[in-house]
Amino acid sequence: MKHVTLLPACLAAVVLFSSCQAPSLRGGARSQYGDRPGPKGFSTVIVDAGHGGKDPGTRGRGAFDCEKNLALDMARRVQSQLRGSFKVLMTRSSDTFVDLDERVRIASARPDAVLVSLHFNEGPRRLAGPETYYWRVDSFSLARRVQRNLSAAAPVECGNRGLVRRRLRLTRNPTIPCILVECGYLTSPSECSLLKGTAYRDKLARAIASAIREQAACGDAGMGPLPKPIYAPLSSSHDRRE
Ligand SMILES: [Zn+2]
Repeated sequence: MKHVTLLPACLAAVVLFSSCQAPSLRGGARSQYGDRPGPKGFSTVIVDAGHGGKDPGTRGRGAFDCEKNLALDMARRVQSQLRGSFKVLMTRSSDTFVDLDERVRIASARPDAVLVSLHFNEGPRRLAGPETYYWRVDSFSLARRVQRNLSAAAPVECGNRGLVRRRLRLTRNPTIPCILVECGYLTSPSECSLLKGTAYRDKLARAIASAIREQAACGDAGMGPLPKPIYAPLSSSHDRRE
């Protein structure tokens, strides 16, 4: 069962009840801890292609390309899906190195935006499937929508690694809603061969874009109770590998 009925129900709710509860982020609201409802009615999406330049990301044993190139390819696909509906900003649009703290600065300078960072995973050969990270309360629904759509787009054998709450620089430090998406495992032979196909990467990009549009239309509606805030310090380069 792939949740195909959720979008119409949610949009119907928007029409019937103008109280999708979540306040709009228009007007420049920022939040250090993200202790607030998820965004609704936002106009800007910051698409962050992970890694780049001197930082190749994971290469994956036997992978056809390294993570930095695939992340940029996926970012361009998401950008093209969103064009016309949102103002889309890219943290990089070529093979250049952009420091994580600089990416955070780019995000926090746009209070009316959400940030979606795109990556590919590595691990033991048996692990496969998309995985979405969030940390802030205001990022939960967007993360959940993205993960739900990606798991519906991925074949069953590639699994669904689920939603993970993790304090990373790009899930904790921006003052706007922000999520990090691992689109699949380059170390899984079956998922890697799927990801090699542009049609599959397009399918994933459409799934991500559709989740972003749903979030903008519905806010937190239909996503269940929000998690409790965690008042943890900023993430730094000493925390863990990112
Ligand atoms: Zn990565």
